[in-house]
Amino acid sequence: MQIPNEDEMYQALLERDSSFEGIFIAGVKTTGIFCRPTCTAKKPKKENTVFFRTTKEALDHGYRACKICHPMQPAGVAPQWLKDLLLEIHANPAINMKDQDLRNRGLDPKRVRRSFQKNHGMTFHAYQRSVRLNHAFSRLQEGDKVIDTAYNVGYESLSGFGDAFKKNLGFSPTESSSRCVITIVRITTPLGPLIAGATEEGICLLEFSDRRMLETQIQRLRKHFDARFIPGRNHHLDQLEKQLAEYFNGTRCNFNLEILFPGTAFQRKVWQELLTISLGTKRSYAEQAIAIGHPYAVRAVAKANGDNRIAIIIPCHRVIGSDGKLTGYGGGLWRKKWLLDHESKMNC
Ligand SMILES: [Zn+2]
Repeated sequence: MQIPNEDEMYQALLERDSSFEGIFIAGVKTTGIFCRPTCTAKKPKKENTVFFRTTKEALDHGYRACKICHPMQPAGVAPQWLKDLLLEIHANPAINMKDQDLRNRGLDPKRVRRSFQKNHGMTFHAYQRSVRLNHAFSRLQEGDKVIDTAYNVGYESLSGFGDAFKKNLGFSPTESSSRCVITIVRITTPLGPLIAGATEEGICLLEFSDRRMLETQIQRLRKHFDARFIPGRNHHLDQLEKQLAEYFNGTRCNFNLEILFPGTAFQRKVWQELLTISLGTKRSYAEQAIAIGHPYAVRAVAKANGDNRIAIIIPCHRVIGSDGKLTGYGGGLWRKKWLLDHESKMNC
């Protein structure tokens, strides 16, 4: 497996960039200790740093694990306790776990709170409420009565349910049949966490969580669908997570997913064309421009590629410069290189 170049990794080390978790391990020559990119300890000088792909490699070179950042614990993946907790919340959205319920499961409520603030940008309590109300929205869309839904998700009064619903989703329960919600989940991958979003109709977002464009893309979708982003699960996201895991394992070459990509007629044409570039093949921006019948619009094609909101699934990483150089990629060039290397090794 390829790793990014040393300058990029050293910069990530200095910036404690969490998107590099699981990508490299840094060894310190002067102390013989190895660390995660995000270690909070003082950073070594560049000439004293050595980069490894895995903790095993660092151990093989005689380095010892840092006691501050615990690099031997799996990086970039959610710990098992968090997976179990999320599974329980999503399987039973009416559940309203208090601190005591967490302690009963052997969990430290403070640790749970820190984890949700860090990974979901909201309190554990707010996360549970959002999942509950998102689930209520699905039930209402399927035609359930407001009163039944309110009780089903654990509200004791209809007005309490109505207020919470409106505050979180931006419209009242009775408007559900004509409105939309974008359900979001965080998916961890070998390239760092991705944020995925889907309406009831299909997937509309898949972006690396550290991507600068993410906020802009979220605003565009919010406006287009006139919808808020609410944590939860739906069958499109379940499918996406399953198929992405298979892709990263090297066992899936094609995705079979409902996707939504609103945009201008030109953007849609470019994105539609990207979907025809099969795994293991590459195309230049100029070839892409010819393919959509606008041979002189190379720069506009490159721009539309960059505006793609569904990374990996709409494979904009398969378009490269005419000279064979990788050129730009919203998720970072090292990720584009990683994806192309990964795909070149797959048997499709
Ligand atoms: Zn460390």
